[in-house]
Amino acid sequence: MDQLIPVTQPFLPPLDEFRPYLEQIWASKWVTNNGPFHARLEQSLCDYLGVEHLSLFSNGTLALITALQAMKISGEVITTPFSFVATTHALHWNGIRPVFADIDPNSMNLDPAKIEAAITPQTTAILPVHVYGNPCAVEEIGRIADNYGLRVLYDAAHTFGVRRDGRSVLEFGDMSVLSFHGTKVFNTFEGGAIICQDAKTKRRIDHLKNFGFVDEVTVVGPGINGKMNEIQAAFGLLQLEHIDHILAERAKIDERYRLAFQNVRGLRLLDVPKNCTRNYSYFPVRVGSEFPVSRDALYDALRANKIAARRYFYPLINEFPTYRGLPSAAPSNLPIATEISREVLCLPIFPGLDVRTQDQIIDIVLNAAGLSQHAS
Ligand SMILES: *Cc1c(COP(=O)(O)O)cnc(C)c1O
Repeated sequence: MDQLIPVTQPFLPPLDEFRPYLEQIWASKWVTNNGPFHARLEQSLCDYLGVEHLSLFSNGTLALITALQAMKISGEVITTPFSFVATTHALHWNGIRPVFADIDPNSMNLDPAKIEAAITPQTTAILPVHVYGNPCAVEEIGRIADNYGLRVLYDAAHTFGVRRDGRSVLEFGDMSVLSFHGTKVFNTFEGGAIICQDAKTKRRIDHLKNFGFVDEVTVVGPGINGKMNEIQAAFGLLQLEHIDHILAERAKIDERYRLAFQNVRGLRLLDVPKNCTRNYSYFPVRVGSEFPVSRDALYDALRANKIAARRYFYPLINEFPTYRGLPSAAPSNLPIATEISREVLCLPIFPGLDVRTQDQIIDIVLNAAGLSQHAS
């Protein structure tokens, strides 16, 4: 094996299946600006996800930035350091001061008690992340937001299709943002969406993503260009036809890893709530102090075999130069996130990862644990 095995890879359907979509775009010459595929994808995603109001975007980061604009958030926003940098960057681009709060050691999502302790008179909103597609403590966060008069924007970039008690996780909070980047479970190469709770808010978001235009001569505010184009939208429709296959393939790999690693001393898998559907978007393991080698040594051992596991999320967002001067960025304020960031490793999981490579990954991990079963 000569090529590096990535931690994830987009699912690309047979090229022939995309051709009819492209022919339609070529025939109509409607390439962007709320085209027919854009309209169809918004409706199809609402149906699939079980939500009512969804606006497509050219990527998830612009969707986050625009969601904050649409809610007119300013001042301080409480967020997690255990995420992809775009979460906090979206605050920074809006001139909002991020306030980091620590995470819960089991869910790796924001700890509601730590959110409440971080509230000041300047706090206007909470920006939690459903990390690895694992829902946050949405009821408790909702209660805190209600008590203190705060808005809630969920970064749901990992949470495509996740339901809890049969209900979409995207229904919680004022808004949620999805990412359809090539590394995500459902992708449009680049793409994203805002889910909001009423038609009036969706209209406002749709104006904001199109420079503020309401009609030919009316601009209602300083909007941005966040529009998804027709090629992206068409690819999304095609991808949606394959979503059951994508999820089934991911589920099989998740099950094999779980079976192999369930009783390995020092290796901890992510707990998943029982009443929750999953999308198998990541396979994080925590390499604890009882494991014979360090997380980084395991990372290196995989890398030596051309397997690119990823240390999501390391470094933490509060450790980057832009944010490390903030009072809330002190590691002493974030002990759990700091510890987990040094232990976590995400193993490759994607449709098309063959069984031989899965076995090789399992062998390398078990070898490092001193438990190898197969000779390799
Ligand atoms: C991928 C991701 C984003 C950014 O989405 P893009 O579509 O790449 O802009 C934001 N937050 C989290 C947690 C992500 O994983």
